[in-house]
Amino acid sequence: MTDQISRRSVLQAAPALAIAGALVSIPLAAMADSATSAPAAGPLAAGFKDGAYVLPPLPYDYAALEPAIDAETMHLHHDKHHQAYVDNLNKTLKALAEPGADANPALLSGLEEDLSFNAGGHLLHTIFWSIMAPPSSGGGGDPTGARADALTKDFGSVEAFKTRFSKVAAGVKGSGWAILAYEPVGDRLLVTQAKQHDMQLVAGAIPLLPLDVWEHAYYLKYHNVKAEYVKAWWSVVNWGAVGSALAAARGR
Ligand code: MN
Repeated sequence: MTDQISRRSVLQAAPALAIAGALVSIPLAAMADSATSAPAAGPLAAGFKDGAYVLPPLPYDYAALEPAIDAETMHLHHDKHHQAYVDNLNKTLKALAEPGADANPALLSGLEEDLSFNAGGHLLHTIFWSIMAPPSSGGGGDPTGARADALTKDFGSVEAFKTRFSKVAAGVKGSGWAILAYEPVGDRLLVTQAKQHDMQLVAGAIPLLPLDVWEHAYYLKYHNVKAEYVKAWWSVVNWGAVGSALAAARGR
């Protein structure tokens, strides 16, 4: 396998690895030769460049998702919080590559925890920005076609899916996510509830539609009323992007 093929495979597989195997994707991606790598497809490709993880630019203006999500929240969330996950992920990988990292079991365990947390944070946020859009550019409405069929098969109806997802999101204790994920073994969609960025996830499941319900995602505007944020968020869901992610996940 050449570096080029290896890198392309890694990036195409990246959504699955975000859930189940950030540990797997990082060493392979890190050793890819950027001089020979092929352009990658999918939203996650923007999160890695020239041998390091990078903050992808937002695909819309900071104020584009108002009134559902205010510009100040977007600035802080993207420029500060997401940037910190990227920085700490790169820092953790550097520390793991130091000679002697294996010598101290407690240090190594701490670095592994940092790796899971920051890689999960970086990859989930990268997907999160990509599955939203202002209503003028495809945000909101209800899914149709294969997306709607898949949701109906596994949840009974699109409405029942939205109800389930909203309740799972509102019910996150502390910091976490609600995630619509594709589980390839059973060829089915699951709603999962992640704690922080990396706990209580289903191994092998591919995140299609993650909703950040950490307080930093909504507190400036919605204060403690998380359910109102979740309700408003549906108006900026980019179902086209979710459909592309589902097709890509099924095609692998
Ligand atoms: Mn966040």
